[in-house]
Amino acid sequence: MVYDIDTFYQGLVEHGLILPTGIRGGYGRGAVFEKILRGFNELVSRTAADDGAEELMFPPIVARQLIEKVGYMNSFPQLAGSVHSFFGNESQAREITARTQAGERWEDLLDITEVMLTPAACYPVYPIFSGLLPQGGRLVTVLNWVYRHEPSDEPTRLQSFRMREFIRVASNEDVVQWRNDWLQRSLDLLRGLGLDASSDVASDPFFGRAGKMMAANQVDQKLKFEILVPVISQEKPTAICSFNWHQDHFSGKFGIRNADDTLASTACLGFGLERVTLALIKTHGFDPSQWPEAVRQQLAL
Ligand code: ATP
Ligand code: ZN
Ligand code: MG
Repeated sequence: MVYDIDTFYQGLVEHGLILPTGIRGGYGRGAVFEKILRGFNELVSRTAADDGAEELMFPPIVARQLIEKVGYMNSFPQLAGSVHSFFGNESQAREITARTQAGERWEDLLDITEVMLTPAACYPVYPIFSGLLPQGGRLVTVLNWVYRHEPSDEPTRLQSFRMREFIRVASNEDVVQWRNDWLQRSLDLLRGLGLDASSDVASDPFFGRAGKMMAANQVDQKLKFEILVPVISQEKPTAICSFNWHQDHFSGKFGIRNADDTLASTACLGFGLERVTLALIKTHGFDPSQWPEAVRQQLAL
């Protein structure tokens, strides 16, 4: 297998799988790309069917207060997407028109709104767990568009992409067991699609010097795992699925308690749906009609 980012990108464009928009990490997706992505998402749903996860749906925005409360601006300010809008009067509106037409900067005429772009699909879920959980905790699944300010020409690093997540809230023991089970289950699922998948401990890109300590701690305590597949490089495989155990980070902030009134624990797992799609394309080729029959069948292609 040859790994060359430009050739891969060009192939994706030439086969109509992605559509350049001029935004780095913001290309459009063609019909075939979407069919693969949807097929995989539905395969995940079938795999998890017996778990009885509650399926919830949120818009791709979250309350700014929630972002502030969970400390996202301390940990990942470099990735945040804040929504600003215009609150001014007639003459300030004319000023915006003049400046945009003159090609000048105009953002000082805007103000911050009450919302931000969702940075991970699970964020809106934690506040709804507040209070006393039922016996055995809860399990929720969501699919959402998320935003990360990490513009890149590399086709697997997008600014806006979809995450299919499962979020488990229960006792420490149950949560860790659930995470371990899903790690194996996800590896089996991805390998069953012909992907060269392996797992490893990982860390989040916490900002700054203090962030380096947090990342080291995350690795030491094995709080984050990733499933990796070579997509744009053999030596640096791409994370297509992540598992995060937050311990009591969210439960503490939102007052989430187990049925026995102890502080709950949370964990989530997220499939990066565009990355899974790209990993399948890299592995099996640009034309899904030529993919192995067993893979086509599982993805309903
Ligand atoms: P990376 O280390 O590659 O930046 P991450 O650790 O930031 O990934 P998570 O925050 O755990 O990833 O996000 C969950 C999943 O979302 C990842 O496993 C990956 O599949 C996907 N993902 C993360 N960032 C991007 C991105 N910029 N573009 C596309 N998919 C992404
Ligand atoms: Zn999550
Ligand atoms: Mg990242």
